[in-house]
Amino acid sequence: MSRAIHMKEDYYDVLGISKNASDAEIKKAYRKMALKYHPDKNPGDTEAEDKFKKAAEAYEVLSNADKRARYDQFGHQAFDNNGGFGGGGMNMDDIFSQFGDIFGGAFGGGGFSGFGGGGRQRVVKGSNLRIRVKLSLEEVANGIEKKIKVKRKVQAEGTTYKTCGTCNGSGQVTRVTNTILGRMQTASTCQTCGGAGQTIDKKPSDADAQGLKVAEETVSVKIPAGVVDGMQLKVTGKGNDAPGNGIAGDMLVVIQEEEHPTLKREGDNLHYDMYVSLPDAVLGTSKEIDTVTGKVRIKIEAGVQSGKILRLRGKGIPSINGYGKGDLLVHVNVWTPKTLSKTQKEFFESMREDEHFEPKPESSDKSFFEKVKDMFS
Ligand SMILES: [Zn+2]
Repeated sequence: MSRAIHMKEDYYDVLGISKNASDAEIKKAYRKMALKYHPDKNPGDTEAEDKFKKAAEAYEVLSNADKRARYDQFGHQAFDNNGGFGGGGMNMDDIFSQFGDIFGGAFGGGGFSGFGGGGRQRVVKGSNLRIRVKLSLEEVANGIEKKIKVKRKVQAEGTTYKTCGTCNGSGQVTRVTNTILGRMQTASTCQTCGGAGQTIDKKPSDADAQGLKVAEETVSVKIPAGVVDGMQLKVTGKGNDAPGNGIAGDMLVVIQEEEHPTLKREGDNLHYDMYVSLPDAVLGTSKEIDTVTGKVRIKIEAGVQSGKILRLRGKGIPSINGYGKGDLLVHVNVWTPKTLSKTQKEFFESMREDEHFEPKPESSDKSFFEKVKDMFS
């Protein structure tokens, strides 16, 4: 299940700083948190690890003027729809690669002991796959498990690897340069192996240059109730495989909501336009209407006014954040006939002066504007 839909904590709150914190304050706050929650200091403490990751993600955004501006304007939404963090957070590798400029040598050049002892070797990640999934309004309202057929790149059987000759398996190339500050050692990712530390030795003829081939697979994706058009769910590890000992990319499932023939969605609420005949409005009746869980019969009181909104509580869409359900708002439209028989016409003519047909709005017959105000309160 994706984590892309959790309510996310404000980045400023995560670092415990104010909205107008300076770059230096941001850096200082992050440094303090990273030192406190560093996995080496809190082995096996998942809560600390979570805080550590959250702080890194917050710093990643707030330390970059461009990203910070986007975040200030759009909030987490700014990064949710374009493969930003998608809510999955950063992986440990990203975090340690960010350390260099903040901590200098504080952690002995990145990597912590729990990271498999791989030293500076970079874990190569396969590319992400983006799949669109169309959902009916009923599927959105009830949640659904979808079986999605995808073509993803997988490691071809028979591919073998050897240690990269350029970096001798470290994934990094170090260079020593003389500067006015003295001798400086800089490390950069090995160009030959892309940081993986290994290159292909032998591969089958149907594999590409990276030893991968396309395979069709059916991936089951649980879509929670209440998703919104354009929302992106992440299925970890179901993207393309990476070559060698890298890790597979992710599958990003983009939600597309199909239009419903009679129900219109507005956030978690639904709207339904109901038409009643003049006699039904005058005498009262009952009518069957569509809901996302099937048809429901509702009672129309005698003397119902056109424009009245009947609110069916909890018959809307469940909140994606788990805070209850929206309502179904049934809008009453009284249908006035355009043509009448002779006797009907005579009848209505005779009713012109009848006091029963005189409009006498009561306080319960709110005006359109009052109703709209109610709907948003
Ligand atoms: Zn290499």
